[in-house]
Amino acid sequence: MPRDRSLPPRRFLGTRPEAVSLPWTDAARMLEQCTACGACVDACPQDILQIVGGTHPEVTFTDACTFCAACAEICPEDVFDIERDPPWDAVAQIGSGCLEHQGVSCRACEDSCEARALRARPQIGGTSVMALDTEACTGCGACVSVCPVDAVTLQRPQPQRSEDAA
Ligand code: SF4
Ligand code: SF4
Ligand code: SF4
Repeated sequence: MPRDRSLPPRRFLGTRPEAVSLPWTDAARMLEQCTACGACVDACPQDILQIVGGTHPEVTFTDACTFCAACAEICPEDVFDIERDPPWDAVAQIGSGCLEHQGVSCRACEDSCEARALRARPQIGGTSVMALDTEACTGCGACVSVCPVDAVTLQRPQPQRSEDAA
């Protein structure tokens, strides 16, 4: 179930260095090319985009991104690369505030995940850990929108350190 729109937006991931920008683009390209015209905001059928700081749009994750590409198709600037596959490389991350982790039954994220990428793993002592299948996760953000305690974020994989790659 989508989040109550009378509540403030959850988070603006584009304001963080390794943040999720819109699909088929990235923060650097967005900041360089976007004129903040707002066309993508108006075009998004999920109503999950918002112009931030008068400079660029970000995803609010008040609902899931369906990857419909309406934002990319309407944009008059060179912001998007629609050939990018997957549209973004971010996946869900469950934080320590998860209710299941504290022994309280919830699993709203698991129920919201059409890709079936989230599964509760019961632990000794009556708590559960929400385990993510990163291969199955599309980064749609449905789980972000339904979490009652804001325990879910979308995160990009950390860049590999050069010494790790050697
Ligand atoms: S792909 Fe579609 S649902 Fe996702 S942000 Fe763009 S317009 Fe909205
Ligand atoms: S349609 Fe393109 S240029 Fe306009 S706000 Fe959206 S990303 Fe920026
Ligand atoms: S981001 Fe989407 S696909 Fe990934 S775990 Fe959440 S609901 Fe499932």
